[in-house]
Amino acid sequence: MLLSVKALGPLETNCYIVNGALLIDPGDDVPGLDAFIREQGAHVEYALITHGHYDHMLGAAHLQKAYGARLLISRADEQALFSPEAALVPAETETPFTPCHADAYLEEGPLALADVKFTVIPTPGHTPGGICLYSEAEKTLFSGDTLFRYGFGRTDMPGGDMHLLVESLRTLLRLPDDTRVWPGHGEGGLMGDIRRSYYR
Ligand SMILES: [Zn+2]
Repeated sequence: MLLSVKALGPLETNCYIVNGALLIDPGDDVPGLDAFIREQGAHVEYALITHGHYDHMLGAAHLQKAYGARLLISRADEQALFSPEAALVPAETETPFTPCHADAYLEEGPLALADVKFTVIPTPGHTPGGICLYSEAEKTLFSGDTLFRYGFGRTDMPGGDMHLLVESLRTLLRLPDDTRVWPGHGEGGLMGDIRRSYYR
């Protein structure tokens, strides 16, 4: 699996490109997004959004329009694509909010994208419809804002739920030690190391 990552926008939201075809979290900096795609020589077929917060998805409409990418998000978080209130868009953003709609919904279970067999794991808590994308074969987890190298996503924003987040974290922390975790912000790490920092 070919993986590249670039932190985009003021919140340094990680944007990932898998095998030049699957883009995970378009971020909120369209010029930066375009530059990243160009640098990678990518032909983006799919844009997957881990959850409906503006810093992960303001670039989604652009990807759909300019690249013909198919937008994938969970049904529960989809309203972020057309409602700036749901996406928690602040008053000032460099990339304006452009409403768009999903081309398909992410649901729990297997999902093959860009020649990789993934499993969609629903991980509500940070948002109601947040998901993580796991590949057992590639030992890789894209964990959005649910699980970070050090810590986990906030639950004090609209739609957040601490109880649900704890359940989601329990699910993720059961994945194998050698799973490489790629979060929505900051550096990644190995699941074994992350788990040890949770359970001492
Ligand atoms: Zn978030």
